[in-house]
Amino acid sequence: MEKAVLSKSTFIRGLQCEKSMYLYKHHYGLKDEVSPQLQAIFTQGTNVGLLAQELFPNGVDASPPDHFKMQESVFKTKEYIENGESIIYEATFQFNGVLAALDILVKDENGWKAYEVKSSTSVSDVYINDAAIQYYTILNSGVDLRDISIVYINNQYVKSGDVDVHELFTIESVYGKVQEVIPGIPNRIERFKQVINQDGVPDIDIGPHCSKPYDCDFKGYCWSHIPDYSIFNISRLSIKRKFELYQKGVVSFHEIDLEVTSFNTSQLLQVTSELDNQTYIDRPRIYAFLEDLNSPLHFLDFETMATAIPIYDNSRPYQQLVFQYSLHIQSEHGDLKHCEYLAEANPDIDPRKAFVKQLISDCSDEGDILVYNIGFERGKLCDLMQLYPEFSEELGNIVGRLKDLMLPFQNKWYYTPEMKGRYSIKAVLPALVPELSYNELEIGDGGLASYTFTQMVLGQFEGDYQSSRKALMEYCKMDTFAMVKILEKLQKVL
Ligand code: SF4
Repeated sequence: MEKAVLSKSTFIRGLQCEKSMYLYKHHYGLKDEVSPQLQAIFTQGTNVGLLAQELFPNGVDASPPDHFKMQESVFKTKEYIENGESIIYEATFQFNGVLAALDILVKDENGWKAYEVKSSTSVSDVYINDAAIQYYTILNSGVDLRDISIVYINNQYVKSGDVDVHELFTIESVYGKVQEVIPGIPNRIERFKQVINQDGVPDIDIGPHCSKPYDCDFKGYCWSHIPDYSIFNISRLSIKRKFELYQKGVVSFHEIDLEVTSFNTSQLLQVTSELDNQTYIDRPRIYAFLEDLNSPLHFLDFETMATAIPIYDNSRPYQQLVFQYSLHIQSEHGDLKHCEYLAEANPDIDPRKAFVKQLISDCSDEGDILVYNIGFERGKLCDLMQLYPEFSEELGNIVGRLKDLMLPFQNKWYYTPEMKGRYSIKAVLPALVPELSYNELEIGDGGLASYTFTQMVLGQFEGDYQSSRKALMEYCKMDTFAMVKILEKLQKVL
């Protein structure tokens, strides 16, 4: 059998950018490192795929022994079909130099049907292209395919008892849409083969395609000529405008001609602040913000987890579930007290009820509660009010006392060049309180905190359990302590 040149994933890569496809085939080592969080998304995809097999139980598995032995899957699949198997997992086909593996192939009274499983919650255009290359390869391998469907997550499913796969998954036929794409497939394949066989890396510059539909994993290589802080960091400037500037040779701030480039007020402030190395402070607005705060001040931060396959009853796929909070309470005289909650990482114990009880007790019923990005904490509290109506009055009290410490920075009432157009707490803290830093922490961002706790719940955590729990607490505590210090800085400024 001729060696496959393209796989389904390299084909999809080629549709996004031929350079990415070429680099993947010939310079794989230039690919960006896979972060633990991204790896978790891949692992989640594998788990979702395995669970979806229960929609069509008792099939045979044509998986290869490893990723480099896909040909073995092709032979196994052929053998299974010849032996009359009617449900095949990881069925793999090869035609015209293209290798395509399919999650589930099923034969019923109407003939063969293909099912490709995705851990997302809707069908996107990429999935249609994905299904089209599969359909093309399977059909031309001699299988009379009658239908092809995408199996994806139904985010309205609420778990109650064992996961019901028929409720968790939605099956949507994409046969009609695939037929529209199929006529263009052979030419694409020929084109991609030519590109792969050419001598040098395709001459393709960076562009909006670097992030659409996916964030390309060769950005570290292709974007190396772009400084860490550039016109691409101008906040809320459309990607189209950014690349218009780039095409004109404008990359650094000092290359911007303010006479001919229009920005909105906030963007202009960011640009001029950088060019003049100047801090902007809107004292009246900050004064009004501070005047409106009522002691004792509470500084609150939540950590959440979200999984495609719900773990706890009364939760939906990808619903963000609270498992941890940190709370600093500052009296009128400035005394500081710290409270915290970190759930047991146990798939049989829903972390939310104990979280709610302790939060209500720790927040008492007076004084404002400062959070950073109010929409997040308020959203989670509203979810909890719905889930536990018996606590809705106390939780409603907490919601009514929330105030957002992000406002002065989001609205650029306080802006320094070090903030680099951002206003997240991770950007504001080093700019305002450089002596405090997340850098020394073992867990230094919310994504890693969520990943760590989820791995613990799923029993897949490989690190030191106790020290990582301590690291989780240190991280969340830092978030609220940072808020205390940022507020202190605002007070000092006045
Ligand atoms: S970073 Fe952009 S230009 Fe480079 S390979 Fe990826 S998509 Fe293509």
